[in-house]
Amino acid sequence: MAARVPAEPAARLPGAGDPPPFEVLNPHGASPWLFTADHAGQAIPRALGDLGLPPGAIDRHIGWDIGIAGVARELAARMDAWTILQAYSRLVVDCNRPLDSPTLIVEASDGTAVPGNAGLDPAARDARVRGIFLPYHDEITRALDLRRARRQPTLLVTLHSFTPAMAGVPRPWHCGVLYHRDARLAHALRDALAAEGDLVVGDNQPYAVSDSSDYAVPVHGEARGLPHVELEIRQDLIADTAGQQLWGQRLERLLRALEPRFAGASGLLAAAQAEPYVNP
Ligand SMILES: [Zn+2]
Repeated sequence: MAARVPAEPAARLPGAGDPPPFEVLNPHGASPWLFTADHAGQAIPRALGDLGLPPGAIDRHIGWDIGIAGVARELAARMDAWTILQAYSRLVVDCNRPLDSPTLIVEASDGTAVPGNAGLDPAARDARVRGIFLPYHDEITRALDLRRARRQPTLLVTLHSFTPAMAGVPRPWHCGVLYHRDARLAHALRDALAAEGDLVVGDNQPYAVSDSSDYAVPVHGEARGLPHVELEIRQDLIADTAGQQLWGQRLERLLRALEPRFAGASGLLAAAQAEPYVNP
């Protein structure tokens, strides 16, 4: 009788020699601000090779949010802020998509095919979700739970960057604040950025948050009733260290100025009284 050969199991991800799915900076930092960056990294698990991508594609905006990890490190260090960065490329699995989103694992992005993502079976998809997506979001949940338990206020900023031109169309904004049901912090930061005088600030531009296209804001911000904003910065402004430092300085100044309003005694009270949004 022939031995039964099971279908080859999907590789367990991450594998030997792969980085952990997330990086934590300043765990237990004293700041009320907590920063996350869903698209900070561009790692690909060794078992997935180069996903069949053309040379250089992983360094383009389709592979990661160019520059945002540097801004996040600046903010974490300057503000003693607990910061959680995703290490893997959004082309492996997009950590700001609901698990049922058709763009959770894309077969093409901005005109570039991703052969390693074509026709994945459920086991292969599951390996990426279990090994990369869930540990990252579980870590954010753990941090938020811990802060709540010790009554540390949390102002959540999910950091992203956007390409200066999409499909050949230039984008006028230097940065944008994104939100859905709760605009408290987003509008305050929008006004502070606009008051700088040298910035074109998008209001739910170049994207808007929705339940079908986003994960972090609905789950970690809205559902917990935390003041939150998704902040997008144009990639040419933060492509190098000098730009990342400038934005780190600027954002530190603006965010600290907002603290009394959102994380002082009145802010805490407001957060405590806020009814968490319940998805009907
Ligand atoms: Zn992003």
